[in-house]
Amino acid sequence: MDRSIERALGVQRVLEPAGVLPQAAIRLDADPSVGPDEVRIAVERLNLDAASFRQLSEACGGDGDAVRAAVLEIIEARGKMQNPVTGSGGMLIGVVDAVGPESPLGLVPGQRVATLVSLSLTPLRITDGLARWNGRSEQVPATGSAILFGRSIAAVLPDDLPDMVSLALLDVCGAPAATARVVERSGARSVTVLGAAGKSGSLSLAAARAAGATALTGVVRTAAEAAALTAAGLADRVVVADATDPLAVAAAVGQPGDVTVVCVDAQGAEHGAVLATAEGGTVVFFSMATSFSAAALGAEGMAADVTMLIGNGYTPGHAAMALELYRRNQGVRALIDPRVRPTGPHDPRVHA
Ligand code: NAP
Repeated sequence: MDRSIERALGVQRVLEPAGVLPQAAIRLDADPSVGPDEVRIAVERLNLDAASFRQLSEACGGDGDAVRAAVLEIIEARGKMQNPVTGSGGMLIGVVDAVGPESPLGLVPGQRVATLVSLSLTPLRITDGLARWNGRSEQVPATGSAILFGRSIAAVLPDDLPDMVSLALLDVCGAPAATARVVERSGARSVTVLGAAGKSGSLSLAAARAAGATALTGVVRTAAEAAALTAAGLADRVVVADATDPLAVAAAVGQPGDVTVVCVDAQGAEHGAVLATAEGGTVVFFSMATSFSAAALGAEGMAADVTMLIGNGYTPGHAAMALELYRRNQGVRALIDPRVRPTGPHDPRVHA
């Protein structure tokens, strides 16, 4: 392959094994010196992918210090924040502080940006030991450096939203964009969202509505989430079921819908999603906890003629769409804000 394309993809940063792209690498070179087409970001805050954070928390028995130590160990060992179990990363915000002369990204030093490429392929060095993080939230105040390649993407942070909100929205902005695209292209009218009261779930409901869907069902796990989603007014129908229990999902959803969007952060939602989808319909697996084999073999085993899409984190215009859905939708704000906004000076999510 052309050397300049290899560089744009970040191949020069791969230490091990040779010949793979950064996402598949076991270890990256996180040296903060920038190459001619690279950009360095002074890191302010990481947003760990929800599936990764849940896995780490569960593996550490909810012990925040152990979670912090595990995250530091991963970054130290791999030169990037890629959870070895889920394979997923997250993204970060920070300030552009060095731009190589041949960088095509159009960024200038001093700009505050969010990276829209996964932490699972972003060279990352942490210099503060994550001392301001208690290991109990997906958002991690951090100091260090990260490197963007020629083909990376980043969004300049909007002035009108708090960083914590922008970071959370931009982390999951692929979900509403993918949902809107499927609804628009297929002319789907009924859309079911699993994990509907979460960040990507609530945005996907709002995106489906804006794209023309008229029968929206939100599946949530608890009565409290059902009450919150009902009050938010994003779904026409709210049902309670454990997304990892396929028969419970099928019973709760009833008549299968045209499109199902999987936005839970737990493993085992594949079969319920297939059962919730009508013949000829589409399942969008946005969740990073999705198993390809469970989805493919499950659909085959149920003789279900459904199209299954992997929720690509990137769709053109995805960042602007998520920010706009948040700005315009009181219901989206009502569900997302309590998950990301600090509630007081002692809240662990406050940026110290
Ligand atoms: P989130 O805000 O934590 O929302 C997840 C929702 O799923 C929560 O409401 C959660 O309920 C619910 N849930 C968990 N287990 C459930 C179960 N068994 N039954 C029913 N509901 C359940 O997470 P998010 O940030 O939107 O992320 C959602 C997924 O998207 C994660 O898997 C994440 O890894 C993935 N993701 C994918 C991409 C991509 O590019 N494809 C990018 C970013 C994130 P509780 O709050 O009660 O636990």
